[in-house]
Amino acid sequence: MKCYIAAKKIVQILQEAGFIAYFAGGWVRDHLLGKDADDIDIATNATPQQVMELFPKTIPVGIHFSIIIVVQDEVHCEVATFREESGYHDGRRPAKVSHTTAEEDAKRRDFTINGMFFDPITEEVYDFVGGKKDLQRKVICAIGDPHLRFKEDRLRMIRACRYSARFSFPIEEETAIAILAHATELFPAVAIERVYDEFKKMTRDPHLFEALLLLHKYTLLTQIFKGMPLISYEELEEKLKKPLLFPEKTYPIVYLFELLHEVSLEKKIEICKHFKVSNKEIEFAKELHKWKSSPSLDDIELVELYTFPESEKCQQIISIHQQDSSFDRFHKAKREALKDHVARRKANTPLITASDLIERGYAPGKELGKLLKQAENLAIKLNLSSKEEVLTKLL
Ligand code: ATP
Ligand code: MG
Repeated sequence: MKCYIAAKKIVQILQEAGFIAYFAGGWVRDHLLGKDADDIDIATNATPQQVMELFPKTIPVGIHFSIIIVVQDEVHCEVATFREESGYHDGRRPAKVSHTTAEEDAKRRDFTINGMFFDPITEEVYDFVGGKKDLQRKVICAIGDPHLRFKEDRLRMIRACRYSARFSFPIEEETAIAILAHATELFPAVAIERVYDEFKKMTRDPHLFEALLLLHKYTLLTQIFKGMPLISYEELEEKLKKPLLFPEKTYPIVYLFELLHEVSLEKKIEICKHFKVSNKEIEFAKELHKWKSSPSLDDIELVELYTFPESEKCQQIISIHQQDSSFDRFHKAKREALKDHVARRKANTPLITASDLIERGYAPGKELGKLLKQAENLAIKLNLSSKEEVLTKLL
């Protein structure tokens, strides 16, 4: 509600200054579907310069696309000047952007249901592209000629699948034909980072699996995973019968691994690099892999991993792998077997302390530290639980 009030105030200020200003795109679609979102984009005929002059707090984020963030009552709202895009040469971005009318701005948007405006003052919807009708028909339909629109920006093919899954609206026939016709042209036009951003949005939506199936159906997954051991449509369908119940903030790359046949760690790192994921994600993927192959892990490593299972990372890894029953059985048994060692590590109360060794004539220093480490490893490896036993074996 706070966002709505702030965004409405921005529109009011713009309109009182003599400009046209509306809520635009996704918010209008969601509003008509009865789901008011918090993310409100504003479109106006005021130029970025005029927007900056009108509001005391602004951030010029996307001046190239005429987008200014206006900070109103602590809410950040994107205000974009109505624009027309032309001269798409590379299938991803326009060569020229010029200011225009609301109607023309609607036409440069991707799908009819995403192309409407809403005036929060009069509560009137402005629909120049047949968006309302398509919301009623429940279809995802490109604005204008779908072939041209996908040639302009090929990412739109992936977006079509995302929206289709999200709203359970089929993709309109001509739009669907155009996706099949242009799927092979996805790369090199589209930057992989934009594709990954779309995956990110999909993984935050409960309809992720429908979206993945659609991407497979329209042969887009084959393009995205070219040269990688992608599973077949039927295998994916079978796999997704049992939903992947990963924790809320699971990195998208973890879901993407599910689309592939079993691969080595090296291959997984290569895939991470292909998608240009962050180093943090790569580290997570490595750790996840390490746990998956945990039967080969040393007991000492396992004690280390089990020491802080309440950390968010460990929780995530555990719940991701828990779907694999052998993983669960192995770890339950191991955790039980190693529980005393884990408890000692957590409480920082080792079986052998520095004073035990000093009492036996060892001088404090680096060597003593090494010996203490050896003592702990010995206790874990041989599953010893008494001080004497460890000291006998150690010294
Ligand atoms: P979401 O809830 O998934 O963010 P959204 O509709 O808000 O949905 P955004 O990606 O945030 O989608 O984009 C905002 C609006 O900008 C869209 O509704 C659409 O009108 C327009 N848009 C975004 N990406 C494109 C694109 N690649 N081509 C044309 N129009 C686009
Ligand atoms: Mg959005």
